[in-house]
Amino acid sequence: MAAAVRAQVCVVGGGPAGLTLALELARRSVSVVVVEQSARFDRSFRGESISPDSVWLLERMGILEGLRDQTLETRRMEITDQGRTVLRADFAQYDRPCPFPMELPQPPLLEALAKEGERLEGFSLLRRTTATALLSEGTAVTGVRCKGPDGEFEISAALTVGADGRFSKIREMSGLPYEKQPLERDFVWFKVPRPDVWDGHTYRVRILGARHGLFIPTVPDLVRVGFNIPKGGLKELRAQGVGALHTRMDELAPEISAQVRASVTKWSDTSMLDIFTTVVPRWSRSGLVLVGDAAHTLTPVLGQGVNHAITDAAVLARLVAGALAQTDARGALDRATLRFQREREASVARARALQLRQERAFAVSGTVPVLLRRALYRLVDSSAPLKRRILSGIYYPLQDADRVRPFDVAPVPPVPAQT
Ligand SMILES: Cc1cc2nc3c(=O)[nH]c(=O)nc-3n(C[C@H](O)[C@H](O)[C@H](O)COP(=O)(O)OP(=O)(O)OC[C@H]3O[C@@H](n4cnc5c(N)ncnc54)[C@H](O)[C@@H]3O)c2cc1C
Repeated sequence: MAAAVRAQVCVVGGGPAGLTLALELARRSVSVVVVEQSARFDRSFRGESISPDSVWLLERMGILEGLRDQTLETRRMEITDQGRTVLRADFAQYDRPCPFPMELPQPPLLEALAKEGERLEGFSLLRRTTATALLSEGTAVTGVRCKGPDGEFEISAALTVGADGRFSKIREMSGLPYEKQPLERDFVWFKVPRPDVWDGHTYRVRILGARHGLFIPTVPDLVRVGFNIPKGGLKELRAQGVGALHTRMDELAPEISAQVRASVTKWSDTSMLDIFTTVVPRWSRSGLVLVGDAAHTLTPVLGQGVNHAITDAAVLARLVAGALAQTDARGALDRATLRFQREREASVARARALQLRQERAFAVSGTVPVLLRRALYRLVDSSAPLKRRILSGIYYPLQDADRVRPFDVAPVPPVPAQT
């Protein structure tokens, strides 16, 4: 067995939650080790739409500076139902420091977070390393056993964080109960070049009966497309050949028919998202806490998964750093993780409830329910105060709360001068 590693905090999972948390902790002088099972961050189709509040947080953390050419602002949103535009939003009308959602692929975001962390003494990222078991003393978790390129080893830590995503093994091993709620649909994703007739800043939602598609301009000059299929229906759709996908796109977005035929020639050009939510009544036990998707898997509607992962991380880092500075660190950490859940769960529950309402609206079929859905979107569209209230609740809660009580992120250390 390789030599044991010791740190104040061990984070399992180097996704948006884990790396943001580790960076924020290291900036607060906490020693932290992140274990990440993959060798590189070159995942695709993972949480590329970043909500304005996360844009604001990443901006304050100094992360977006070097990523300008890898990002694209979403300036408008447009929902079309049965060929008619029923809802429009122009984010420029919302007077906030960061009003626009942003498309930012995860590989450059994660690389930037890791690079920033690696400048700091207390930060360590172990790639190609998988957490395989929890270590414990009595009822308290005291670290993890890992398998890395050089074999097995143990990491002992005052706090172990499960930031290992929607299929979290840490959650499973912790014994914390959870409930997985499958939704009625799955989602197929792919990317195609953006057609000239579409501008590069409008997020389009197209609905036709119980079918819908998301068409999101992204870098560089592409459109990220997602469309719904019945739960578990991929096998059946695939059996019909990739022509079935082309036909589906012809119905939803004829503007991209040619691009889809040229770019999606086989099913392996697409990826499938199994849509479910997970509710975990208690996010922590002594010595262990869950964050991000591990604590609350959300659906892809309105780009909330990454947003809540990043916000969780920033809140938890502040509380954990404060607890570790106290003499009774173990007791203080247990209180801090409970407080973390109290501070975050109402916001997560609001996002989940809104997503579920939206999911139900997308899934309706039959003349009357479809007419009602259209009328509802039109009602929101025609009332500026109602639209403002709904969009502010989804996209700007942190920026709005910051006006009353400033949100605390760790100070950004100065970049050393080039020699
Ligand atoms: C196809 C798809 C599209 C999506 N689109 C959007 C979107 O547009 N906007 C949005 O906000 N959200 C979207 N999401 C959701 C979003 O990706 C997640 O909410 C977000 O990535 C959660 O971050 P996280 O850090 O909690 O978990 P993850 O990003 O899942 O990171 C978990 C990390 O843990 C690592 N890991 C897992 N197990 C172990 C282990 N045992 N040991 C070591 N490492 C481990 C994994 O390799 C991974 O790097 C999408 C998800 C998918 C799958």
